[in-house]
Amino acid sequence: MNLADSSTLTTTLITRGYRRVDDEKDADLLIFNTCSVREKAEERVLGRLGEVYQYKKKRPHMKIAVVGCMAQRLGEKLRAEVPYVDFVLGTDRVFELPDVIEGIEGTSPVMTAFGHENMDMIMPSKETSFSGFVTISRGCDNYCTYCIVPYVRGKERAHSADQIVGAISKLVDEGVAEVTLLGQNVNSYRYGDTDFPRLLERVATGTGIQRIRYMTSHPKDLSERLVDVMAEQPKVMQHIHLPLQSGCNRILRRMGRVYTIEHYLKTVEYIRSTLDYVSLTTDLIVGFPSETDEEYEQTLAAVRTIRFDGAFMFRYSVRPGTTAARFDDDVAEEDKIDRLNRLIKLQQQIGEEQNQREVNQVRHGMVEGFSRRSEQYYRARTEGNKIVLFESQRPLESGTVVPVRITSADAYTLHGDMMRVN
Ligand code: SAH
Ligand code: SF4
Repeated sequence: MNLADSSTLTTTLITRGYRRVDDEKDADLLIFNTCSVREKAEERVLGRLGEVYQYKKKRPHMKIAVVGCMAQRLGEKLRAEVPYVDFVLGTDRVFELPDVIEGIEGTSPVMTAFGHENMDMIMPSKETSFSGFVTISRGCDNYCTYCIVPYVRGKERAHSADQIVGAISKLVDEGVAEVTLLGQNVNSYRYGDTDFPRLLERVATGTGIQRIRYMTSHPKDLSERLVDVMAEQPKVMQHIHLPLQSGCNRILRRMGRVYTIEHYLKTVEYIRSTLDYVSLTTDLIVGFPSETDEEYEQTLAAVRTIRFDGAFMFRYSVRPGTTAARFDDDVAEEDKIDRLNRLIKLQQQIGEEQNQREVNQVRHGMVEGFSRRSEQYYRARTEGNKIVLFESQRPLESGTVVPVRITSADAYTLHGDMMRVN
């Protein structure tokens, strides 16, 4: 979502006459769009702010803006700590940056109040020439006990289906072939009579978009109906990001996740039995307060049973103001690191095995450009959101979809041969 917000802000600035520069040293305005989800993300921003101070010392007219979640969380405190920051704009105020810079009446250099966004305005963002993001809902009402998001992004509010369909049609007119629908919990989307499965159907049947992705799904709200729509609508890609967080029911309860591992396994079973092919990815946290070795082992066991295609794995990080911040953060840092390393190792092995299962299958990759390492290979994204590398005798334009037979795989990448298209 930060990526999407950054692109939208960039577009807003460009329409107001700003120009992007290649080197940050030459910028008159530096913007940090920040994340607060873990302490490390915030520390990195503070580190980078320290680094860019040298540019500002040489070119004092340079303005520095900190926007987004960390700006929302810290507000004035951020300027007290880093006085050379010129503008601090919270999550609802990000897109007002050009007004603030121009000193338009009613604005001020530090703005964090909620309720100022215009939900009638939807701002799709074009990520590349062929792919875009559309935010369908903002904020979150779930209050998982470890999570800062509901505090910094506010209550959940949705854009109307008409707006979303309109925004996607606009992207299609601009040549976009793939859209990702974004929300903290897309499954709880509701606007009038439209719930998320219905919205997906409308986007699939009512726009000219070729491919539709979405994230993130909350296991408590992922319905069988949604999976059925995925089976019925070929434009909806077969990838579900379904954060599990922990494999232990006591920890899940303490995290406020309101589902059990049994419920999660049942959901996965329905997904895998309904869809011919699907790639399943997740988020996991280790070292949540009071997690014992045995409870951690339950997460490993769940990972072994479910066999995710990929996972984002984190050490628990205390976020001030959340419910879990009042729990004793009693898992030693070295134990958290050890648990995380063992989990990553296990998931890497399973990820590689899952990728091996794709060998000899034909996947349809949307071309993204050349491989990062070599222009000998094209890079494309499969239905399951995996990267596949392959050679082509003829030049391929980004955004085209080509069939590729998978020939080999490692933990992160598939390799294949492009098939002839008649
Ligand atoms: N709304 C999404 C994403 C939330 S943040 C969802 O519910 O899935 C992305 C991930 O960061 C979470 O899924 C969780 O695994 C991780 N995360 C959030 N807060 C954290 C914390 N305090 N410490 C460690 N990881 C955290
Ligand atoms: Fe955070 Fe939970 Fe909301 Fe996701 S669903 S953003 S983890 S509170």
